[in-house]
Amino acid sequence: MLDIDITIVGAGVIGLAVAAELADHRRQVYVLERNERFGLETSSRSSEVIHSGIYYPPGSLKATTCVKGNALIYELCDKYEIGCKRLGKLIVATDNQEVEELEMLLDRGRENGVKGLKMLSGREIKAVEPNVEALAGILSPFTGIIDSYGLMRYFAGKAQEKGASVVYKSEVVGIDKVSDGYKVTVADDSGIFSFKTAVVINCAGLSSDRVAALAGVDMIQAGYKLHYCKGEYFSVGRDKGGLVKRLVYPVPERKGAGLGIHVSLNLEGRMLLGPNARYLDRIDYRVDEAQRVGFAYSVKRFLPFIEPEDLEPEMAGIRPKLQGSGDEFRDFVITEESHRGLPGLINLIGIESPGLTGAPTIAQLVSGMVRGLI
Ligand SMILES: Cc1cc2nc3c(=O)[nH]c(=O)nc-3n(C[C@H](O)[C@H](O)[C@H](O)COP(=O)(O)OP(=O)(O)OC[C@H]3O[C@@H](n4cnc5c(N)ncnc54)[C@H](O)[C@@H]3O)c2cc1C
Repeated sequence: MLDIDITIVGAGVIGLAVAAELADHRRQVYVLERNERFGLETSSRSSEVIHSGIYYPPGSLKATTCVKGNALIYELCDKYEIGCKRLGKLIVATDNQEVEELEMLLDRGRENGVKGLKMLSGREIKAVEPNVEALAGILSPFTGIIDSYGLMRYFAGKAQEKGASVVYKSEVVGIDKVSDGYKVTVADDSGIFSFKTAVVINCAGLSSDRVAALAGVDMIQAGYKLHYCKGEYFSVGRDKGGLVKRLVYPVPERKGAGLGIHVSLNLEGRMLLGPNARYLDRIDYRVDEAQRVGFAYSVKRFLPFIEPEDLEPEMAGIRPKLQGSGDEFRDFVITEESHRGLPGLINLIGIESPGLTGAPTIAQLVSGMVRGLI
């Protein structure tokens, strides 16, 4: 049986960032991906926003990896010519209760260490975004957008340059604890084979709860069971795409599963509305056209120029959420499982937003865990 040092399950942005961080010519690092290319699941179905870290409870992994990741991502983009734009973002209030909630969000963002946040009055918002209606808003100047494919290509290239192998069409179907590591079983075009590895890093996105279970973790008892939460997007046509210059978000609902349907802009300048948040039992990326009117009316209070006829179904992504519908906040799980009798197994579960932004920091965190193992 082939012996390798580190096996990473999944070539989304997280698995690739981890591989880029850990690859080293002195050890064998393999990334196994069931699809034929990297990033075909959640990592290519996001808003591609470089978040600043306002929303998450202080001290949580979501807050810390996002705030640090925001700065790291801009550095990577500058250095390696990955497409990005620091557009800035507004979170807008349209009634007095929302204005109070904005104050709380501003405090939270500052406590999280988000730079440059500023409260704007309705008049100040009009001066910068004449087509946005709001009583007040938070300006977050360091929020931006990124070419997520370009970021993944960079991580994959860096990992391979440093000696790692990224292997496609290879699904991990078994992980068995053996005396000094794990026997990993893989299904590929040629059949089924196994090898031995010292460390397994589970970056399997929507399947990460099941991959943890393959290794013997009771996902219910561990609190790792994932809930699928779909986010659909509509594009805005009819020449209205240029009517805002920044990302514009509503105040999020308390205990909401997402940040609220908002305006994002992609690097080509196209305007998208989304994502909504709908829990579902199975993976289904179809966009329900019947949502068109609901989408238009949910943003009309702050973007009065939007009409249902402007919207065309665009795409959908699915969040791997630990938080079920109506549940309290759940943080990312990033943990080495020695305490469960599974040393050398590192699980990353529930890596929903802001996972794209946090990817380089999450990779550093995982690298620190590996340092103590091999
Ligand atoms: C609608 C939506 C909008 C979002 N917007 C943002 C945003 O604007 N900003 C932000 O920072 N984050 C955002 N996110 C979150 C971000 O997209 C994710 O956190 C990130 O992409 C997760 O990456 P990943 O590598 O963990 O998962 P994935 O990209 O899903 O990768 C996991 C990989 O594992 C592979 N895999 C699974 N099981 C196996 C197996 N058994 N064997 C081999 N391979 C396997 C899969 O094929 C997949 O390629 C958004 C997410 C969604 C759904």
